[in-house]
Amino acid sequence: MTVTELVSYEEALATFEPVMGLEVHVELGTKTKMFCGCSTELGAEPNSQTCPTCLGMPGSLPVVNAVGVESAVKIGLALNCEIAEWCRFARKNYFYPDMPKNFQTSQYDEPIAFNGYLDVQLEDGEVFRVEIERAHMEEDTGKSTHVGGATGRIHGASHSLLDYNRAGIPLIEIVTKPITGAGERAPEVAKAYVAELRELIKALGVSEARMEMGQMRCDVNLSLMPKGAQKFGTRSETKNVNSLRSVERAARFEIQRHAAVLSSGGTILQETRHFHEEDGSTTSGRIKEEAEDYRYFPEPDLVPVAPSREWVEELRAGLPELPRVRRNRLREEWGVSEHDMQSILNAGAVDLIVATIEAGADAASARKWWMGELSRRANEAGTDLAAMEITPEQVARVCALVAEGFLNDKLARQVIEGVLAGEGAPDEVVEKRGLKVVSDEGALGTAVDEAIAANAGIADKIRSGKVAAAGALVGAVMKATRGQADAARVRELILERLGVEG
Ligand code: ADP
Ligand code: MG
Ligand code: ZN
Repeated sequence: MTVTELVSYEEALATFEPVMGLEVHVELGTKTKMFCGCSTELGAEPNSQTCPTCLGMPGSLPVVNAVGVESAVKIGLALNCEIAEWCRFARKNYFYPDMPKNFQTSQYDEPIAFNGYLDVQLEDGEVFRVEIERAHMEEDTGKSTHVGGATGRIHGASHSLLDYNRAGIPLIEIVTKPITGAGERAPEVAKAYVAELRELIKALGVSEARMEMGQMRCDVNLSLMPKGAQKFGTRSETKNVNSLRSVERAARFEIQRHAAVLSSGGTILQETRHFHEEDGSTTSGRIKEEAEDYRYFPEPDLVPVAPSREWVEELRAGLPELPRVRRNRLREEWGVSEHDMQSILNAGAVDLIVATIEAGADAASARKWWMGELSRRANEAGTDLAAMEITPEQVARVCALVAEGFLNDKLARQVIEGVLAGEGAPDEVVEKRGLKVVSDEGALGTAVDEAIAANAGIADKIRSGKVAAAGALVGAVMKATRGQADAARVRELILERLGVEG
């Protein structure tokens, strides 16, 4: 049965309670693959980073990547999980052309980490606890490219190309327990969870977790049950959702779709679904297999993993400050609202501001330049703030020049423009472009006198008490000094000369 009519979101939530499960795959940033020494570097010639082991040749034997295990333990600890004292890998058997071994080396009933939680902060500041079922180690598959069809899908393709460079790259799969009680905020919780997890992974330094590059992807499981019910409904599983926004949209769409099916007396199939960026919809994939179908069995070619308690405690002691804790600390230090902090986060400016402050700027100025002028320019250029050709040290130098009165904001913007244009460091740009505030009181006084003489009418108005008219004279002086005067000081001088109180 296909349903074209969706139930409105509000209507769906009036009748049903959503239950979600999020499965996130993270590609680790290890130098070599999980079970062989092949490089993981992106962008290499297809199939140039393969060996008998990751190609599944007879007689080849895997060896586990120690950094992969260490990363898995770190992730587990950061997610407040228990770390297994002893666990094994398992073979998950199925055929797919991009998986030359005919099975994926994964973990099944003995994951390395289990029973944890991650607290995520919603947009209004409320904290929602997401319980973690498990985090286990596995490996990525190769990549197929279907050629000749219109859609890039296998359907209608004339042939397919296979690249095994990705086959065997370490993955950590993190699975939540069923998330209940989020109600209408379920899609927001899903997005916030994936966002928080991404920050966490980056803070641990185990992966860059770039969703747009497939380094982190999320499967969104969702079911509905009538409000007040205890028994979960049948879930659908929307696969490989690869942006935060899409995670939220996929959950929202599935809530509306399930509600439509259930309200009209239909049944939900336990199936995988594909998400479509263009319109935020999902379409049917394949009927979901059960775990038994995979004939999981312990991997006989790999020794069990038994992380010693001492080592686990060592790793725990070495964990960095967690992102949410750090964010709250910085928010207080900087004295900004939840909302402003969220914007800073969304702009990817947290670390840049921190570095600018470390280089000597005060928090307010650092924030002002990164979130103002630089964000505007990054937007215009369609790039990330971090990719702008200016360093936090250089921004700190601009802040210092303003604080010392050598530059006003307008000149500072020109200095930034110069730095971005490759004209050199801030001081060089100041020098080359001759951008210094006219702070010589004598020169400024002369400019003020000239402006008063040239605008006698306005000067009279000001003398008679219309102080607001001073703006025009300030403008004239700024023009005469090519913007290189301190406007506030100019105004003071004008009022002084005309004998009126500011
Ligand atoms: P599979 O490998 O079949 O996808 P997993 O157990 O790895 O199964 O993951 C299923 C995910 O869906 C988990 O996050 C789990 O908490 C969640 N889940 C299980 N049952 C339901 C349900 N009825 N509705 C929503 N989510 C569910
Ligand atoms: Mg799954
Ligand atoms: Zn290999």
